[in-house]
Amino acid sequence: MNKIVLLICLFTLAKAEPNWEKVRSETVELFRQYLRIDTSNPPGDVRRAAKWFGDIFANEGIPYETFTVQEDPRRMHVLAELPGMNHELKPLLLLNHMDVVPVDKDFWSEKPFDGELKHDIVYGRGALDMKSLGIMDLMAMVQLHREGWRPERTIKFLAVADEEILGPLGASWMIKNHWDKLDPEWVWDEGGIGSKDSFPGATAFAIAVAQKKSFWVEMVVEGKSGHGMRPYKDHANEVLIKALSKIISWNTPVEVNPVMDEMFNRLGEKIGGGKGFVMENLDNGLVRYFAGGAVAGTSVSTNAMLRNTVSLTILESGYKTNIIPEKATATLDIRLLPHVEPDDFLDDLKYVVNDNRVQFITKRKPENRYVSDWNTDFFHILQDELQREKPDAVVMPFMTIGGTDSQFFQAKGVNTYGLLPVMVNEADIQSIHGIDERISVDNLMMGVRIVYHTIKRSCGPNE
Ligand SMILES: [Zn+2]
Repeated sequence: MNKIVLLICLFTLAKAEPNWEKVRSETVELFRQYLRIDTSNPPGDVRRAAKWFGDIFANEGIPYETFTVQEDPRRMHVLAELPGMNHELKPLLLLNHMDVVPVDKDFWSEKPFDGELKHDIVYGRGALDMKSLGIMDLMAMVQLHREGWRPERTIKFLAVADEEILGPLGASWMIKNHWDKLDPEWVWDEGGIGSKDSFPGATAFAIAVAQKKSFWVEMVVEGKSGHGMRPYKDHANEVLIKALSKIISWNTPVEVNPVMDEMFNRLGEKIGGGKGFVMENLDNGLVRYFAGGAVAGTSVSTNAMLRNTVSLTILESGYKTNIIPEKATATLDIRLLPHVEPDDFLDDLKYVVNDNRVQFITKRKPENRYVSDWNTDFFHILQDELQREKPDAVVMPFMTIGGTDSQFFQAKGVNTYGLLPVMVNEADIQSIHGIDERISVDNLMMGVRIVYHTIKRSCGPNE
């Protein structure tokens, strides 16, 4: 072979793209098989799914291990890897959960565990959350392995149980018991998504770099009991209700944390005009004073992104119509912005209530306050790949208002990024944990391509 031919060969090798049409039919087939495995949680039995992944890795000759949790053997985890040549580089971890939330079949128009395919849309529980990302990760790894591609940086695939209950036997069990096998540089998890109409004025991919923190507090008031025919002042119910009424009418201040600031900057720049100006300058005290409330009022989700929130979820008191009870309790689901310390917020809450007859008992205190860095090679490459697929979309860091497994890796100080790389609309997003959960085959394949290219560029030898 002469030099020129060799060069041409090398060039085509470097540029070689998989035969995506072939990958497409295989991806759809595997995805439908995966959706047919009912991994509803509760009960959260993922044994069949773990074995299914294991068989695929075994057939492909990709090294993998499965882990069974002794306390409850229905909880299993699968860890596979494409070993990198440079052992000084920490791995990229592709994290996905196998469990799904249960369904109420009666409300579905399709069967939720049949992997139904209609007009190029696949239906089933887990179609978005998050068996799709699991399949994108799997297909990208399988494809790269078949090509004989050797990464510099190790790529790990971790499928876990129990994300839907964020329990101690899920991702946190792997972290606690097998950290030496994980220890990643970056984690790619769920959390954000691409949407055409969820963000004001722009099509956008939101990559989760932070999450709000669940802080659960119980309020208790104890006093005297008495007969209902002789009402008296300041009994437990009355004290608690007055305290709660102050909490409910308390407007926590609008706060623009650095993640939201960056998100609004990127959105504002894209939108332009007066609305864009407000978004870009929301970190300015004056703009926030005049327009912060209006921006927060756009939707209950936007509101939750811009302030600490308190939801009164449980009220317990009384046992007989004619007895004034001696004890009343209420439970608050408090969601804090990443930088807010739970104890400081509790002090504010006590100040608002201003009544020392009310006791506050902490039931769950969040540990994680980490915000992932969005100036990393991984974030830049992912952003680039997303824009290659959708040049008009804004790519921005994002804060989720709910929790995912990302928090357990962030608590270890790992840069964790949450994104299902698809472009959907709000109606599709509502099907997550809802009815008729679905994804189009085009979106599924766009995701496979994005994962494939992002892995190749963030873990490969420089092309
Ligand atoms: Zn999920």
